[in-house]
Amino acid sequence: INDRLEKYLSQLNDAQLAPTLQKDGPMIVIAGAGSGKTRVLTYRIAYLMSQGVDSFNILALTFTNKAAKEMKGRIASIVGDSEAKNLWMGTFHSVFAKILRFEADRLGYPSNFTIYDTQDSQRLISSIIKEMNLDKDIYKYKQVHSRISSYKNSLITVKAYFQNPELIEADTAARRPKIGEIYKNYVDRCFKAGAMDFDDLLLKTNELLTRFPDVLAKYQDKFRYILVDEYQDTNHSQYLIVRALSDRFQNICVVGDDAQSIYAFRGANINNILNFQRDYDDVKVFRLEQNYRSTKNIVNAANSIIDKNQTKLDKVVWTANDEGAKVKVNRLMTDGDEGRYVASSIFENRMQNQLKNSDFAVLYRTNAQSRAIEDALRKRDIPYRIYGGLSFYQRKEIKDVLSYLRLVINPADEEALKRVINFPARGIGQTTVDRLVVAANGFERSIFEVMQNLDKIDIKINSGTKTKLQNFVTMIESFQVMNQTADVFELAEHVTKVSGIIREFNKGGTPEDITRLENIEELLNGMKDFVEGQKELADATGSLAEFLEDVALATDLDADKGDANHVALMTIHLAKGLEFPYVYIVGLEEDLFPSAMSMNTRSELEEERRLFYVALTRAEKQAYLTYVLSRYRWGKLIDAEPSRFIEEIDDQYLDVLTPVHEPRQNPMLNADIFGDIEPNNIRFKKPVKRKSEAKPPKFVAPKNLKRVTKSNSSEKTNLFDGKLAVGNIVEHMRFGKGEVLKIEGKGADTKAEINFENGGVKKLLLRFAKLDVL
Ligand code: ATP
Ligand code: MG
Repeated sequence: INDRLEKYLSQLNDAQLAPTLQKDGPMIVIAGAGSGKTRVLTYRIAYLMSQGVDSFNILALTFTNKAAKEMKGRIASIVGDSEAKNLWMGTFHSVFAKILRFEADRLGYPSNFTIYDTQDSQRLISSIIKEMNLDKDIYKYKQVHSRISSYKNSLITVKAYFQNPELIEADTAARRPKIGEIYKNYVDRCFKAGAMDFDDLLLKTNELLTRFPDVLAKYQDKFRYILVDEYQDTNHSQYLIVRALSDRFQNICVVGDDAQSIYAFRGANINNILNFQRDYDDVKVFRLEQNYRSTKNIVNAANSIIDKNQTKLDKVVWTANDEGAKVKVNRLMTDGDEGRYVASSIFENRMQNQLKNSDFAVLYRTNAQSRAIEDALRKRDIPYRIYGGLSFYQRKEIKDVLSYLRLVINPADEEALKRVINFPARGIGQTTVDRLVVAANGFERSIFEVMQNLDKIDIKINSGTKTKLQNFVTMIESFQVMNQTADVFELAEHVTKVSGIIREFNKGGTPEDITRLENIEELLNGMKDFVEGQKELADATGSLAEFLEDVALATDLDADKGDANHVALMTIHLAKGLEFPYVYIVGLEEDLFPSAMSMNTRSELEEERRLFYVALTRAEKQAYLTYVLSRYRWGKLIDAEPSRFIEEIDDQYLDVLTPVHEPRQNPMLNADIFGDIEPNNIRFKKPVKRKSEAKPPKFVAPKNLKRVTKSNSSEKTNLFDGKLAVGNIVEHMRFGKGEVLKIEGKGADTKAEINFENGGVKKLLLRFAKLDVL
């Protein structure tokens, strides 16, 4: 170990070494972007282990599970896999969900509790508002949810709420006197459903640690060394957990940058970093000043921005890296032009500098901005991936399948039950569901228990419907039996068939249905991977419960497979801690960035400025800023003004390009950037592919093609029984005509590789794919 560690430690400068080698006591590393905070944290863990600290006694909290995984990989390469495996690392949510499962009975929860995602929470709140007969225009479920969420993150329980006249008055003054009651109902219903929402994972951990001194003592003793990355963005609830756990040994190391605190709107409290020295005795404070990530121009431009904030800790950030190119600023006419500019610039850069798609990121303030960028990248055949927005696991069809599986683990799960009790349709109407809910509330039981006891209770449901409900119960119970022996993949495959989900989408047959089937197939593939992956790990079983936990806490960044070669599109909030050689920051316009909703107070504006600082400091080699003169927002074309942030950057680090929307007046302009765009009627030449990424030539259907078989629907879905052969020309609803290149697998697993005229080569599962043979 020591040799390897030696090698790693030699990759740190002296300022970084000091906190890395500081073994005991409370310490804080405050430093600007790209100065190696995360690197210090990682190497410090390896160092602790080399000093005899047991890996079981170390807890590291990160911003994403992906970051935790990367850290663990790095540490494993120093100390070895088996030692690294025992480290507790992950986001606050994933680490404390694990602890809550161990200790669930203390809080009256089952250890198989469900984790409600935001969508589940909002649906439940929405139905409670309806059941209470409240005006849904006054009680908007999303607003109510965020109110409840902020109470929970401030540790204001229902009881605390009703004991606090100020809170009640505030909600009453805002014409929402029933918030407390909704809050109470929501908490009761979650409890009855054996469910915790995201905020509960922190709130209940706090409850656990405060109410049960023996539990606190146990985890204090376990986590003798605690490390927290991105400390500036912890909220009050997270702060208290860290505080409690570190109280006994005081071996707490936090790293952060006050200039990158960007989650105040979610309750993050910048004071956590500012007050750290007050909270612990003899805090060692370390500062790092050298940035290793970015060029001089980028570092200096970012410094000149953050200088404008009044509330900040004084920090120096400098770099020994090259001067690099200046930050390019570009004005475009519309958001469409902006997208095209970004796409063609990426294209040019990639060609000229032999870069990968994954060397580029496009960052924006709001998710809605991605569309114009996407359109342009698609037209240029540049692969991209959007992070954030609706994650894969929140898509309707995926949640439907997952809801069946959630019921297998926890039949009390109300939101899962309501989602699928009548999907696919089995003649169980809303009135019946409403009656079940009322009965469940009355008996203080779960809906599922009511359904199991329909014969014994007095409920106004006719016998035909009762039979349907009982059939549903029997089906779920049969899945539970299967779950005792089958793995996740086998079970899920069975569930999608027996529940009728596959049949339902097959029957629909619209392009959306086909996409849904493909997504379900993707989910099943993911499960297969999960099962295989878990088989390699001795202590995991590939169980359904583990899979659901992974899914519930997956952040969108986690889904990324490291080798993927695509341009990354994401909001700036999501980009925190990441780095890319080339970064495009788009939509730098007043009211968009800074956001119109964050300009009322100095502190809001300063948070927007920090957000801009985060964006700019993601870039290693070059940063591009764009703004437009008019943009569609809320369905209207509105005039836009350049963001004040552009003006705030010191001129000497900027390269302001001639406005590109006036090509005639400026003939010399952007020949290199817009090489192949014709200014007036924008069309694109076919991108020239480098050899390494050459695809088969696009398929073009011969003109004299005639249908040899007339298609009908039964034939469409039965293609896997041997009718399709290599060389066949087929037609797909979305991808158009294509040629079959390869057929593999047997029976229901038969797959065909087809080169389509729209979309290139695709591998389709013939059981799902609806193809016409031409
Ligand atoms: P952020 O504030 O954005 O989270 P950070 O302070 O956590 O940034 P790191 O991500 O740890 O910074 O480091 C930034 C980059 O610099 C990384 O690519 C890292 O590998 C590299 N780096 C850090 N320290 C050194 C060093 N001493 N020598 C060479 N490269 C370094
Ligand atoms: Mg970092």
